[in-house]
Amino acid sequence: MEDCIFCKIAKKEIPSEIVYEDEKIIAFKDINPAAPTHVLFIPKEHIDSLNSVDVNHKELIGDIIFRIKEVAKELKISEDGYRIVNNCGSLGGQTVNHLHFHLVGGRQMQWPPG
Ligand code: AMP
Ligand code: ZN
Repeated sequence: MEDCIFCKIAKKEIPSEIVYEDEKIIAFKDINPAAPTHVLFIPKEHIDSLNSVDVNHKELIGDIIFRIKEVAKELKISEDGYRIVNNCGSLGGQTVNHLHFHLVGGRQMQWPPG
């Protein structure tokens, strides 16, 4: 995906503050944080959104959620609590069309979301 900003981050073609990386996943700080802790977790492989996830991606998605939990612990927000967000499609508020999960924490979250 040539024009995808998150593919470029995954390939280190544009800079980001990387928090975690392995063969399949990269996590980096959100450029416009919505909370004191705001990290984005993406598969390195380009997937448009959760709608494009298929059965072959089940392990990858599980790995991402597991990793979010681990990083939350490392960032010391586990005990107080945190939120994982996936915005899917236009009504879901997705603005970057490369699957990503937000980890937000460090302040009281509200419900319902805006
Ligand atoms: P969403 O609205 O769920 O698609 O979230 C996209 C997120 O990507 C927003 O929170 C943006 O602030 C963030 N974002 C966009 N460009 C960058 C970038 N170059 N580095 C880090 N975060 C970014
Ligand atoms: Zn991409």
